[in-house]
Amino acid sequence: MANIGIHPYLDGGLKKGSASFAGGTLVCECTTNPVKVKIKYDIAHNHACGCTKCWKPKGAAFSIVAVAPSENVEVVENGDKLAVVDANALIQRYACKDCGVHMHGPVEREHPFKGLSFLHPERFEEYGWAAPGFAAFVSSIIESGSDPAQMDSVRARLRELDLEPYDCLSPGLMDYIATWTAKKSGVLSA
Ligand SMILES: [Zn+2]
Ligand SMILES: [Zn+2]
Repeated sequence: MANIGIHPYLDGGLKKGSASFAGGTLVCECTTNPVKVKIKYDIAHNHACGCTKCWKPKGAAFSIVAVAPSENVEVVENGDKLAVVDANALIQRYACKDCGVHMHGPVEREHPFKGLSFLHPERFEEYGWAAPGFAAFVSSIIESGSDPAQMDSVRARLRELDLEPYDCLSPGLMDYIATWTAKKSGVLSA
């Protein structure tokens, strides 16, 4: 099963996070004038994601994506190289125009994720960030060209890596979104 590639960072086994990780700097792939984004404190909800929208390194079937409160995210160098990939998307993914890495993706519209920014912790210069805890949108890797016949092996490999596979977000996050929606509509009292 080792021939099933998930992500270069995960294929060798999960690196555990450190409780003392206090944030760091995300750097894009440019060798000159890289974009740098400073993240205060640790990240949350880190996971592997199979959707077609997340940035992934070459050859990876999944991205590694997490969130931080947008107020803890600050572009500190070469921010002029950033542009929003899709202005109509819920997540405003700011990508480096030269290397393509998505550096931060704030959610600004009315949504349970408003106030959070999506980011790719593998771009941290530092180690120790919270490890991915599950795999989201697993079936979606087929939309990027993965062989549907391989999906049982992909899910088995994810479980082997301790990344429980889901075809949307994790139950915890799906419940969180539904609770927000129920409160908004008045079905649940706020
Ligand atoms: Zn770049
Ligand atoms: Zn994704």
